[in-house]
Amino acid sequence: MDFVDIITRKKFNQPLSDAEIAFFANAAADPASKDYQLAALLMAIRLNGMDARETAALAVAMAHTGDVLTPDVGGIAVDKHSTGGVADTTTLILVPLAAACGAKVVKMSGRGLGHTGGTIDKMESIPGMQVELPEQEFLDIVRRVGCCVVSQSDKLAPADKRLYALRDVTSTVDSIPLIASSIMSKKIASGAQGIVLDVKTGTGAIMHTLEECMELARTMVDIGTRAGRSVQALITGMQEPLGSHVGNALEVKEAIDVLAGRTQGPLLEVSLLLGARMLMTGGLAADEEDARNQLLDALRTGRGLQKLAEMIAAQGGDPRVCEDVTLLPQARIQLPVPVAKGVYLQGMDAQAIGLAAQHLGAGRLSKEDVIDPAVGLVMHRRIGDYVAAGEAVATIHANDARKAEEAARKVMNALIWGDHSVPPAKLLYASIDDQHMEVFA
Ligand code: URA
Repeated sequence: MDFVDIITRKKFNQPLSDAEIAFFANAAADPASKDYQLAALLMAIRLNGMDARETAALAVAMAHTGDVLTPDVGGIAVDKHSTGGVADTTTLILVPLAAACGAKVVKMSGRGLGHTGGTIDKMESIPGMQVELPEQEFLDIVRRVGCCVVSQSDKLAPADKRLYALRDVTSTVDSIPLIASSIMSKKIASGAQGIVLDVKTGTGAIMHTLEECMELARTMVDIGTRAGRSVQALITGMQEPLGSHVGNALEVKEAIDVLAGRTQGPLLEVSLLLGARMLMTGGLAADEEDARNQLLDALRTGRGLQKLAEMIAAQGGDPRVCEDVTLLPQARIQLPVPVAKGVYLQGMDAQAIGLAAQHLGAGRLSKEDVIDPAVGLVMHRRIGDYVAAGEAVATIHANDARKAEEAARKVMNALIWGDHSVPPAKLLYASIDDQHMEVFA
């Protein structure tokens, strides 16, 4: 088979056969293959799409470029994945909370992608944290602690590891077949029986419209169901950063603040919605109310934070960050972004906020870029809030004064102001599994 022929077929919008798709996935896992050919095919797929058969074949082929685990972890193995957003730190909250309630969470995550942050980059801001673990160690930690979060590796979903990094820097992130195959290849490889998907919609999501998100959710539920897994998707809002902290160490700090009971709000609320589904799919809760109460109890008693500390220690990281967040990397410059007169925040371009953090060094602009774990920004107001004259709407955390000024300008340009308040941004849009679809008013 010839790679150029496959690129040419997709360039002319012809469907690829299962064998051609397997060739592509195997090439992605083969270090000898060329980045430029992989990137050319990614762009052809981004522009011309894939049908349901091609997308499912790509997900399964990518999963099988590495080992597909059948985890024996002393319970139903569960996993969760977000399609990506800004300040979308739910994993670091709901995974330990669910594990504290008895769940066995085999979590495979990704790095930052485009303007969105990635759990793996966030976890690496914790001193010593290991995210590429041998499979046996991964499963041992899940058995012992109840949760472990790892990245793709040369053994687990290696095709996704390569394609993910290429998509990040070739403007090929926003593609339903590429997102669905990337996420579902990791979920199939992790061996989770119960999978909860968080499909983000809004200006800070990868796919912005509700229609695109419904299609993405249905595509992933379908791939997982065909692979014999129980999959449910929630479509949740990303009209503004979900938490207030954007950037790797900053987001770890916010997750710890939530688990310590110091911070509430939409980040906790969405973590509870997803965590409840995780407990139900893991057979640990009778219904949503029961699941929510269990999670809130784990939060109130500090068992969730304790579980995060145990997971960090098991993965080689310094668990003392859970007690003392100043042990996380911190930026030298903190630049407030004040408003000139009293105004209401009526909306924002959340993608532009994510890009401001990415350009500070919280994300990559080329494959070789090294993340600066300390940089990012903190939003002090949400949609609907009033900001008084002279008050800061955000604070930039930077290690370079010129970049800090540039980020402050970008944040200001991303915000929409008015003379009256507006309702808070919606959090839950829809719920989809293989049997039901419910759209919330
Ligand atoms: N998360 C992934 O793992 N892959 C994507 O393409 C988007 C979000």
